[in-house]
Amino acid sequence: MKLIEPLVAWQDEIVAIRRDIHAHPELGYEEVRTSNLVATRLESWGIEVHRGLATTGVVGVIHGKGTSDRAIGLRADMDALPMQEINTFAHASKTPGKMHGCGHDGHTAMLLAAARYLAQTRDFDGKVVVIFQPAEEGGGGAKRMVDEGLFDAFPVDAVFGMHNWPGLPVGTFGVNAGPIMASANEFKIVITGKGAHAGMPHFGVDPVMTAVQMAQAFQTIVTRNRNPLDAAVLSLTQIHTGSADNVVPETAEMRGTVRTFTETTLDLIESRMRTIAEHTAAAMNCTVDFQFVRNYPATVNHPAESAFSAQVLRDIVGAERVDEDIAPSMGAEDFAFMLQARPGSYIWLGAGDGEHRAEGHGMGPCMLHNGSYDFNDALLPVGATYWVELARRWLARPA
Ligand SMILES: [Zn+2]
Ligand SMILES: [Zn+2]
Repeated sequence: MKLIEPLVAWQDEIVAIRRDIHAHPELGYEEVRTSNLVATRLESWGIEVHRGLATTGVVGVIHGKGTSDRAIGLRADMDALPMQEINTFAHASKTPGKMHGCGHDGHTAMLLAAARYLAQTRDFDGKVVVIFQPAEEGGGGAKRMVDEGLFDAFPVDAVFGMHNWPGLPVGTFGVNAGPIMASANEFKIVITGKGAHAGMPHFGVDPVMTAVQMAQAFQTIVTRNRNPLDAAVLSLTQIHTGSADNVVPETAEMRGTVRTFTETTLDLIESRMRTIAEHTAAAMNCTVDFQFVRNYPATVNHPAESAFSAQVLRDIVGAERVDEDIAPSMGAEDFAFMLQARPGSYIWLGAGDGEHRAEGHGMGPCMLHNGSYDFNDALLPVGATYWVELARRWLARPA
């Protein structure tokens, strides 16, 4: 692996920053301490810093030596999750119910390390825009930054993202030239019937059986209506109704998520769900309130930029350690909004299987969004090297 020497030499310092952020997790749009830490560090390395985009977002602009007006955007996310950390090692979360369970602490630290190196060397022609976004975990911080003028204030030719990926071996990377993460969409359906004595159900209208029929019929959308070659998930994850064994309840509520890679399939699923909900409710004498919210679009890599990323990665870790056609995930990522605004690519950085965790970890799997997860510090110089090489080579590429 060809890592950049000073980034390896800074390991202890970068680990300290990463663990400090890990110990002080903050949820979306509340990343006050974290964004202060980011801004202060960037300023201390002589980097031009802009704050306040999407409340807690931070943007750093690193100017190269030449006169080129080329610019590249590198993005990290800063927010934590509303979940309990099970780990008990020294840098475990100090805030009950909040945890860096997705490794955004590591993403922030890697981009800081790269920014420091780029600012010290400035051995490139053009601008590197380092973007530290809030609220990736559901809050759409990337969208808000774009909506508030991120790319108008800081025009870039392309924007790049990276996520640590447990299960992929350390020192390996995954990327592809199309959809890499799914769209995330949530539905909420409230069925209203008429409450009654459960011994005399004929005096009421039962929303429970209506919900059951609807739930069954929804499963036929993915199996019978969707093109089997276009992946989709419809997960009904909550059904809430009833309060007693002998009462037919008045209402039933169902919630869940729909994931797709294409708009066509998403349109189909939403419209079929609506039809099934309305007609099943009507057939069962109930009324229904159907809400479908499209949260994150699919994260779709741009082919040319992804090929560029893959080449940079091959030169760092060797061709055999880069999967250029990795199977996408049905997880979601709000970097999707940045890729809708600018060309670019989003890659996965192999994080291993949890062997790295310090003593006192929670014994559970080292998977994203698990209470036993911890970012793998061995990745810090690897990810930072990718950022630096990517930026330098992107800005130096032939016109
Ligand atoms: Zn996450
Ligand atoms: Zn994440």
